[in-house]
Amino acid sequence: MLKIDMHSHIMPKHIPQWADKFGYDGFIHLEHHKPGWAKMMQGEKFFREVNENCWDGAVRIREYQEFETQVQVVCTIPVLFAYFAKPKDGLAISQFLNDDLANLIAKYPKNYIGLGTVPMQDPEIAVQELHRIKEIGLVGIQIGSNINNENLNEEKFHPIWKACEELGLAVFVHPWNMMGKKNMEKYWLPWLVGMPAETARAIASMIFGGVFEKFPKLRVNFGHASGSFLATIGRIEHGFNCRPDLVAVDNKISPRDYLGKFWVDCITHDPLLLDYTLKLQGSNRITLGSDYPFPLGDLEIGKFVTEMGLTKQTVDNIFCNSTLEWLDLKKEQFII
Ligand SMILES: [Zn+2]
Repeated sequence: MLKIDMHSHIMPKHIPQWADKFGYDGFIHLEHHKPGWAKMMQGEKFFREVNENCWDGAVRIREYQEFETQVQVVCTIPVLFAYFAKPKDGLAISQFLNDDLANLIAKYPKNYIGLGTVPMQDPEIAVQELHRIKEIGLVGIQIGSNINNENLNEEKFHPIWKACEELGLAVFVHPWNMMGKKNMEKYWLPWLVGMPAETARAIASMIFGGVFEKFPKLRVNFGHASGSFLATIGRIEHGFNCRPDLVAVDNKISPRDYLGKFWVDCITHDPLLLDYTLKLQGSNRITLGSDYPFPLGDLEIGKFVTEMGLTKQTVDNIFCNSTLEWLDLKKEQFII
């Protein structure tokens, strides 16, 4: 059985000192302080320690093959988006990250699929980079759940959706820049509570803003099984019905009608929640994800899915068919 993990993060082994180059702070760089390990630094501030499986393609293949996985979809680590940067600097960073991914894929075409980064802070420049992303062999983009606190329904982002439709590029929405982070640093709450809320925010904004109506060919996948969106769809739908004056102002179609139209990954850490997600989304709209190589991910890469007693067809859909459809790729491309 082909197994494609569509939610994993990677970064270049060496990152320029963007702060020195651009003349202002806030960027991530790496300090390789001991063999196989590096410190991700935001200026002088320590962000997290990472292993070589964050940048070394061969190490990663060895690790994910232990879990019968043949292909990994790779994209950057959201903290590298740098949406705060000046647009031309954001473009330089995106191009650097995208070229690194293109090199990896050229080296291991059967093992990796790439989702690029674009400077969402300037949609016009982002569209330029989308064209280049297509040319260098990446099949989509990963974007944040908000863009410098602006929601994804904003009209300024329409040219990006339009270009993705026209170029046939898929979109992966990943939580980042978590709401309320400043007020809940303790207990890892930005990751445990903020991230699921961020993804729900992204989905609700896109639905209520009519993005899926205006761009019906857009293929979007939301991380962590939609965050808290599917778990609260009853409340969201009820709000839409009882206060249309607040909710249905830009789109008259019920949020429930969109279930099964977008994709979500299976990172629930919970068979009960995956079972519920299957009921709402259908197995052809759920993709295998891991969040590799980070500890909050499902580092057994979907082992729990195989232990749920699901039909072979359901597992096959989650493990590869849904991802192939989302990315518009053929299975044959990855069979060795
Ligand atoms: Zn992730």
